[in-house]
Amino acid sequence: MIRDNLEQVKQKIKDACDRAGRDEKDVTLISVSKTKPLSMLTEAYEAGARDFGENKVQELLDKIPLMPEDVRWHMIGHLQRNKVKYIVGKVYMIHSVDSLRLAEEISKEAVKQQTEVRILLEVNVAGEESKFGATVEETEELVQSVSRLPGIRICGLMTIAPFVENAEDNRLYFRKLRQMSVDIERKNIDNVSMNVLSMGMTGDYTVAVEEGAAYVRVGTGIFGERDYVKGMVNK
Ligand SMILES: *Cc1c(COP(=O)(O)O)cnc(C)c1O
Repeated sequence: MIRDNLEQVKQKIKDACDRAGRDEKDVTLISVSKTKPLSMLTEAYEAGARDFGENKVQELLDKIPLMPEDVRWHMIGHLQRNKVKYIVGKVYMIHSVDSLRLAEEISKEAVKQQTEVRILLEVNVAGEESKFGATVEETEELVQSVSRLPGIRICGLMTIAPFVENAEDNRLYFRKLRQMSVDIERKNIDNVSMNVLSMGMTGDYTVAVEEGAAYVRVGTGIFGERDYVKGMVNK
């Protein structure tokens, strides 16, 4: 089942790339495995998945040692400063950096571990009150400040679009994030590249790909609905 789902999602990504005149190799599918048991992650891995997304530090730390070493782990959920030290050096990228204080904590830990941490700045493009993320207005200044911190490499921007019935309703937000990345790239800020746009989830990833997503984060479309009551890691 997971193998079929993965194939379907990949095919839809390819179709979206064809429509947009993009190369499918420029889009990475992140399998969002939060709340899902190891058996399902393993199934996805065996079907070729290598990029996995999780949104809770503890769950990440539980799963990392149980999966093969070539998995690239993406931290996509809200991150508290006091948990930064547990994941630096273990995850491939942190998608959810939305404040200078959080970035400073990541920087401090990166320097301590003599490593460099790839991050994306999370932008609340739609200005939803319930969402984390920097506002559109403050993003450029945030990029400037974070870019001066040692041990951090800004790779691009991330957004979580509103929950909508019709994916087309989110097109303007994806387009806006892309425009922001183009504007920031033009400033040629040291330590900053805007190669990565992390946008699009199960409901709207094809639209996000059409609008330039480099990473799409798909959970339900690969692993099925989440059950938050049972949602535990089965070992
Ligand atoms: C859960 C989650 C996803 C995946 O959501 P689906 O709708 O299940 O594809 C993507 N991004 C973030 C940040 C998430 O927390």
